[in-house]
Order: sequence, then structure tokens, then C-alpha cells
Amino acid sequence: MKVIDHLRQADRTLFSFEILPPLKGKDIRSIYEGIDPLLEHRPSFINVTYHREEVIYKDRGHGLLQKVRLRKRPGTIGICATIKAKYNIDTVPHLICGGFSREDTEDALIEINFLGLDNVLALRGDAIKNEPHFIPERDGHPHAVDLIRQIGALNKGKYLHDEEQEAAPTDLCIGAACYPEKHPEALNLNVDIAYLKQKVEAGAEYLVTQMFFDNSKYFAFVEQCRVAGITVPIIPGLKPITTRNHIAFLPKTFRVDLPDDLANALVQCRTDAEVKQVGVEWCVAQSRELIAAKVPCLHYYTMGRSDAVRSIIGQLF
Ligand code: FAD
Repeated sequence: MKVIDHLRQADRTLFSFEILPPLKGKDIRSIYEGIDPLLEHRPSFINVTYHREEVIYKDRGHGLLQKVRLRKRPGTIGICATIKAKYNIDTVPHLICGGFSREDTEDALIEINFLGLDNVLALRGDAIKNEPHFIPERDGHPHAVDLIRQIGALNKGKYLHDEEQEAAPTDLCIGAACYPEKHPEALNLNVDIAYLKQKVEAGAEYLVTQMFFDNSKYFAFVEQCRVAGITVPIIPGLKPITTRNHIAFLPKTFRVDLPDDLANALVQCRTDAEVKQVGVEWCVAQSRELIAAKVPCLHYYTMGRSDAVRSIIGQLF
């Protein structure tokens, strides 16, 4: 079932979460171990992230460096199909522009469709390390809006090179990303929202936000989107802070601010256990306020740790 249909049919705030494919060498059981604890609260859908290759340089001696492309977490689409088959829960593979030509993208979409998945979250992806800015693949898409247009075309039966042939249209529900505190590269929030509107006009049926820790930023962002004419559901994405590493890592990596009350509480924590308690309590309070505001769905970023999300969901649903 499509995410948009879950949202339309809901009579309460839904819950969903995002997982990462396991590191290369681990098996599917590591995925099940992350999902099983969250099942009793009936997630409506599960997202699986996509991880682009990294470029590393191996020292081959004699001053020679070998450029190697390394993918640490492959398998997004297969994992989605496996989760759906095992648990009968809808899944959302993330698909990015980075590293994909338009042909690669079409192949991935055909695979998603063939495996009976109804959804895709369409993203640009980030620049790879050592690249000053995002560089699309030759014949790839520079922005998520272009990927959304390709998915939209396939939904109309327009494949890349089959103009003459009758090809069955896909019927994929398209989601896209948005940023209450603006995307780091955007000139300002208004410009970012103008581009966001283009993604919706191109076919994104719902949006999922970057993590945020201050609900007032989400509410203000939704308001600004509505004024700009963006009417699709905007699902808040939440991440509980659970380790001391997160305190520096999350704001730096995702360019999000921690509100004073949260920051002050976190700097006093001496152990990961203390951080987790503060982080979980904060996320529960955020979630309660968002449910009271009747948001369509709460989407949790597990980042490989479902125990904190389980504790949060257990206090809410
Ligand atoms: P875009 O919509 O292309 O926007 C990128 C920047 O370009 C923005 O500054 C925007 O304002 C600007 N822009 C947009 N359209 C245009 C245009 N037509 N012309 C000029 N400028 C434009 N990354 C992964 O690699 N894998 C994942 O699985 C993944 N999952 C994510 C899930 C969510 C919910 C979110 C919020 C992010 C996720 N990301 C993921 C990160 C995402 O790929 C990065 O934030 C990336 O830098 C931007 O992706 P986007 O789809 O928002 O890009």
C-alpha cells in the first residue's frame, strides 16, 4: 500500500521508522533484530536508506595510490522486499541521484516495481567525500526534482528508450525530503521552499523532514510551506539523542540546532546512559506535542538503534 493512502486513511497520528541496511558482511538477521522490538506498536511503513559508494585511496607502494570505490551498506531494495514479505509491512526504499545514470535509475525503479513495492523516497544524496559539491553522474540527475520527474514519467509508462513499445506504467507513490532549518546548501529558507514546491509539482505526494529538536521550527516551516502553496502532508522526522557522540555529530552533520533547554541538559551528562535518558525524554515530549497538533505521522530515525525508539513509542501509543 502507498504511504499516501496510509496517511489518507488514518484516523490518528501514524508511526513509521527508518533503518539502515546492515554493514557488508552482516546478514538479514541484524535487520530483523532492529525491527522486531518495534512491531508491537504497528508501524505503518518502514524506510530503508540508500548509501552511496565512498571513494578511498589505497597505498600500493612506490608512491602509487589506487582509487577504490567502496559501498559499505548495499542492498536497499532487496531489504525492502524482504521486510515486506516477512512482516507484511509496507516499505519505502530510498533512491538517490548520486552515482546513478538515468538508465541505472530506471533499472532500480523497474526492480522496485517488479518486487511489488509501492513507494519510493526520491533524494539527491550528498557529495561524496573529497568532492567540493554534489556532482551528478554523467547522464544522471542533478536534483531530486529531476529524479521525481523520471519516476513520474515511468508512472505514465514512459520508459527511457522504449518509445515504440507498449510498456506498463508503474504506480509508485513518491515521497521527498524537506528541511525545517533549510537545506545546508540553500541560499535561504524561502529559496529552499521554492525548490521544494517544484518537487511537489513534479509529483512528490508527501514530504518527510530532516530531524529537528525544536517543534516550533517544524510548525513555522509547515506554515511557510502552506503559504507558499505546498499542500501535501509534511511528516516530521525525529531522532532521539542517545550517545555523547551524537551531541557534536548530529548538529554538525545535519546542520540542525539544539534548543537551549536540551543543550543545557546534555552538557551536564557524564555518561551515554544519562544522555540517552535526556534524549529519550526530549523526544517523547516532542512527539506528544506533535501528536496533539495532529501531525499525520511520526517518523523516527533509528540510525541502527531501535531500543530508544521502542522506549519512546511505548510511552506514546
Ligand atoms: P534536492 O531537493 O535536490 O535539494 C538539494 C539542494 O539543492 C537544496 O539546497 C535545494 O534548495 C537545492 N535545489 C533543489 N532543487 C533545485 C533546482 N532545481 N535548482 C537549483 N537548486 C535546487 N541521503 C542519502 O544519501 N541516502 C538516504 O537514504 C537519505 N535519506 C534521507 C531522508 C530524509 C528524510 C532526508 C531529509 C534526507 C535524506 N538524505 C539521504 C540526505 C539528502 O540526500 C541530502 O540532504 C541531500 O544533500 C539533499 O537531498 P534532497 O533530496 O533534499 O535534494
